[in-house]
Amino acid sequence: MSGHVFGPVFSRRLGLSLGVNNIPYKVCTYSCIYCQLGRTLRLSIERRPYSDPDALAEEVVKVLEEVSRVDYVTLVPDGEPTLDTRVGELIDVIKDVSGERVAVLTNGSLLWVEEVRKALANADLVSVKVDADHEALWRRVDRPHKALSFSKVVEGLVEFSRAYSGVLITETMLVDRVNDSVEDAEAVADMLTRLSPAVSYVAVPTRPPAEGWAKAPPAERVRAFMDVLEERGLRVVPLVRGEERPPKCGADLVKCVLETIRVHPLPMEHIELMARGRGLDINDVLEVVLGSPGVYVVEYEGRKFLVWRPAG
Ligand code: SF4
Repeated sequence: MSGHVFGPVFSRRLGLSLGVNNIPYKVCTYSCIYCQLGRTLRLSIERRPYSDPDALAEEVVKVLEEVSRVDYVTLVPDGEPTLDTRVGELIDVIKDVSGERVAVLTNGSLLWVEEVRKALANADLVSVKVDADHEALWRRVDRPHKALSFSKVVEGLVEFSRAYSGVLITETMLVDRVNDSVEDAEAVADMLTRLSPAVSYVAVPTRPPAEGWAKAPPAERVRAFMDVLEERGLRVVPLVRGEERPPKCGADLVKCVLETIRVHPLPMEHIELMARGRGLDINDVLEVVLGSPGVYVVEYEGRKFLVWRPAG
């Protein structure tokens, strides 16, 4: 069985979020060019019982005993959460035993499957991905499993949005000269208006991506893209560089850094800030962290990040 609980971390979309990972590292239906976890190791659409809901809920309760409050307990795994056939049960049991709201960050690629739509129905918030408006661009940006079809995925998103009574939000990741034109914005706006999301987040890669050439578009292109969405009546919020906050680490900084980079790369300036706040020398912290298997320093867009990649 896979799974662990991490954080809480500050999420730009959700506030203080306690993360639950219910999928093995990089098992996903997509292999997005911008994925901050690196390339997908197992591209799959086969759903399996990956998690143990009772064990994960118990872990959630244990962490919540030490943390005064969180905004959400969030399924934000190292892959696609709906590949877990126990995802619905996991949501229900976490809600039951913790009394907290549960959010799910999914790419939405399996919502055409009725059991997946049912499984997410009790989540308080669901975030789905809308990066492209047509099959060729979707294949280029999200690099889906070959058995998936764009029309089917869109059908699933629309069907889910019609029946879902929680908060539905969308995320669109813009990559420079790939999906960031005004024409792309017009077509994405068409799709988004069909989903009526509470908020449409427009993001750019801010951490080292799977493909080093996947860069953030210039600010004026992002603005122009958002303008198109706003003109169509969508509530748009940007997720851009400079808004990330360091994780909310406890006394054991090394442990917290190692846990965080399992989920996403961490900018060096955040580690420096946290070390300084604890009266520690960053070099001592880095010596221990970089001695752990799979930890590297990567430079992206003029910033240094600590990343973790599995061996092999
Ligand atoms: S960004 Fe999400 S959907 Fe895309 S490959 Fe990474 S884990 Fe999968």
